[in-house]
Amino acid sequence: DTLINQIAAGEVIERPASVVKELVENALDAGARRIDIDLEEGGVRLIRIRDDGKGIDAGELPLAVSRHATSKIASLDDLEGVATLGFRGEALPSIASVSRFALTSRRQGTEQAASLDVDGGRVGDVMPRPHPQGTTVEVRDLFFNVPARRKFLKAERTELGHIEEWLRQLALARPDVELRVSHNGKPSRRWKGEGDLLSEVRLHEALGEEFARNVLRIDHAGAGLRLHGWIAQPAYNRASADQQYLYVNGRAVRDRSISHAIKQAYADVLFHGRQPAYVLFLELDPRRVDVNVHPAKHEVRFRDARLIHDFVYRTLQDALAHTRA
Ligand code: ADP
Ligand code: MG
Repeated sequence: DTLINQIAAGEVIERPASVVKELVENALDAGARRIDIDLEEGGVRLIRIRDDGKGIDAGELPLAVSRHATSKIASLDDLEGVATLGFRGEALPSIASVSRFALTSRRQGTEQAASLDVDGGRVGDVMPRPHPQGTTVEVRDLFFNVPARRKFLKAERTELGHIEEWLRQLALARPDVELRVSHNGKPSRRWKGEGDLLSEVRLHEALGEEFARNVLRIDHAGAGLRLHGWIAQPAYNRASADQQYLYVNGRAVRDRSISHAIKQAYADVLFHGRQPAYVLFLELDPRRVDVNVHPAKHEVRFRDARLIHDFVYRTLQDALAHTRA
């Protein structure tokens, strides 16, 4: 089974940032309000994610690290309307097969905390270990037993940069959750969680003052769709596509059709070769979108892609037209 898990890891776990993504998404699915992320050497030496979510029962720990065991899907019907971030039951076994892994947790409403170590896929015994309510996952020496993959890891700075970029993307979507990051023992970033109002503050922090000053607030609904967030005024545009954040039902995605709609809306007002900056959230009935397209879930497939494209295009074109009036 270790081999199968390592192969699965090849699809989902590319680098430390992919581990951080999977573990933080698990914490969010567990209802965490605060997540601590401790890193060493760009996450290659250590990734430790601690949350205050609902936790895992001691008896369920072995299940959590076994393949296709997910507590999030009970039927095919569920698979169609997935609201949680994870649902394949692959992340923990995959990560545990290519690292020195430890899962420690205390389930809400229970007294007993316990821990389970997995060393390069070899699962140990469940042992009692003190822990407050919630879960800590420790991932040490990523790819220590897969030299071919370890070789492809980049410098500490680069790997840390990927992690930070993913966390920025998350911080924009989840202003309700506090995130505290440390690197090599030093606090490196803190996103305070103070509710909805904070989204503007986070926008400012994440994309800079100039973006925040030049921003148009978008919030438009119709045909069972809602598009909200911020787009930059045409005057604030970029040489590169580095400030383009798109979320579908809270999940950060890349989608050609929607990016095209956004570019189209800007087409009249941006100089050739310039890129719009935006943070946009599209909300729709989960049954109208398939998130089960790619193991890392960066991509989605819409049932009515054309309609959504046109909705996004018209909403933004309208907003931009007002800026020129
Ligand atoms: P998935 O997220 O697709 O269900 P994972 O392999 O990421 O699969 O996690 C397996 C299971 O372990 C989850 O379904 C969940 O029950 C449990 N789990 C993992 N991380 C946490 C966490 N931080 N808090 C509570 N439960 C967790
Ligand atoms: Mg998961």
